[in-house]
Amino acid sequence: MLNKLKRLTTSLLPIDATRQGECNRCGACCKLPYPCPFLRFDDQGLSSCAVYHVRPPSCRKYPRTAAENLTPEQCGFYFVSTEEVGTDPTGLEPAASP
Ligand code: SF4
Repeated sequence: MLNKLKRLTTSLLPIDATRQGECNRCGACCKLPYPCPFLRFDDQGLSSCAVYHVRPPSCRKYPRTAAENLTPEQCGFYFVSTEEVGTDPTGLEPAASP
């Protein structure tokens, strides 16, 4: 519950520029700490959100940072070093030209 509160309060900050990957629709983040009432699963076990277009920033940006990734085993997103991305970790600086 404390982690959910932290995610809620930091959800207006930008997504870390070192985030890579994409959502694999596992639905793991939608069960933190309890299954969301808007969580749905299709016949193939892929999750979806019944209020996707108006979902809150804490859901929209999950996982915003490596420290806030509470489902690293399941999540399709991952974080790399700033050197690998070549950008400012705040995401405020543009990427360097090759
Ligand atoms: S845990 Fe990651 S991959 Fe799974 S539904 Fe959430 S954002 Fe998508």
